[in-house]
Amino acid sequence: MKTINIAIDGPGGAGKSSISRTVARELGFIHADTGALYRAIGLYAIRSNCLENGAVAQEIDNIHVELKFIGGVQRVLLNGEDVTDYIRSPEVSMAASKVSAVPEVRALLLDLQKKIAAENNVIMDGRDIGAVVLPDADLKIYLTASAQERASRRYLELREKPDCPSYEQILADIEARDYADMHREIAPLQQAKDAVLLDTTNMGFNEVVEHITGMIQKIMN
Ligand code: C5P
Repeated sequence: MKTINIAIDGPGGAGKSSISRTVARELGFIHADTGALYRAIGLYAIRSNCLENGAVAQEIDNIHVELKFIGGVQRVLLNGEDVTDYIRSPEVSMAASKVSAVPEVRALLLDLQKKIAAENNVIMDGRDIGAVVLPDADLKIYLTASAQERASRRYLELREKPDCPSYEQILADIEARDYADMHREIAPLQQAKDAVLLDTTNMGFNEVVEHITGMIQKIMN
């Protein structure tokens, strides 16, 4: 049976994951957050001291990553260990961005992502889903917001936590990651030609969820 595949790409902090998760729950799809796969490999590279200069490529045969969906909720396994709760730190974000520029890493994850889409109705979010992973997706959305708006959303999320970075630090991290993701040689972040652009700078969370849910329902009918 043909599955329905929705590709959502965009820069970090644009709300891709929380929005995709909510829409997927409403429609009974699974939500695959592909950034988590790169983060798991980033964590591996930190732990194994092979983060710099593409050294992770030599380790590629020792890395096994997997997404599991428990009641539709995603968990990430790295060599059998559930690392879902260890991959959200700024250090792992940067490590993910570094390993994601390594061709061997992208090749390893490409097949895995395609397989998930072939087997499930899925909303898959990432950077190259519409352009590379699922070029035949039923709907492609490029979700973005200004760097300042993304930084202020992240700051509001983190400000109650101990060691919350300053707004300026968050903005600098977002801009550095945008630059790295857009300028790498392989599969750079870009809007696929046939993707719908959705700039959420001035939109509320529920508004974005309703808008995307409506677009998907249209193609399902
Ligand atoms: O989406 P998230 O911020 O969790 O992604 C972490 C990093 O993984 C990104 O900065 C990007 O470098 C990389 N990534 C990627 N391709 C994807 C998803 C994430 O290169 N499809």
